[in-house]
Amino acid sequence: MERTYIMVKPDGVERGLVGEILKRFEAKGYQLTALELMHPTKEHLEEHYCDLKEKKFFPGLIQYMLSGPVVGMVWTGKEAVKTGRKLLGETNPLASLPGSIRGDFAIDVGRNICHGSDTPENAEKEIALWFPRGVKTLKREKGIDALIYE
Ligand code: GDP
Ligand code: MG
Repeated sequence: MERTYIMVKPDGVERGLVGEILKRFEAKGYQLTALELMHPTKEHLEEHYCDLKEKKFFPGLIQYMLSGPVVGMVWTGKEAVKTGRKLLGETNPLASLPGSIRGDFAIDVGRNICHGSDTPENAEKEIALWFPRGVKTLKREKGIDALIYE
């Protein structure tokens, strides 16, 4: 089953939006597979955003991400990566439709509340980076009440 890495950024934590974001992924039908409040180091964040290191906004992005704790999550389910990004909205909150998280709660690309993996391959890389001890996925079997660890 597909997994994605979703992270509430420091502004989302500061503004008390963790519950709201959890609620939307749960209501959509995704399974919460891992959840942790973390204080990542500069090096950890530079690794997470290594594809963007040539961008002009990179130092500001790292500074923003270091401004407080983040909440890392893994969500599992059908097309979790693509649909996860739909739930978040566009990178620029002004281009995000109302109904999406960024569309409902943000106006600044440099304060856009949340992160979501962009491909299944990157999701697995990010899950390994943020949850290095690994995560267990509960498998929901059709017609069986029990949840089984994969
Ligand atoms: P995402 O996958 O939608 O988060 O977007 P990207 O991977 O392209 O960029 C990562 C993060 O960098 C975004 O979520 C923004 O917080 C930030 N970012 C992207 N583009 C810009 C920009 O043009 N200006 C600033 N200040 N931040 C940006
Ligand atoms: Mg990205």
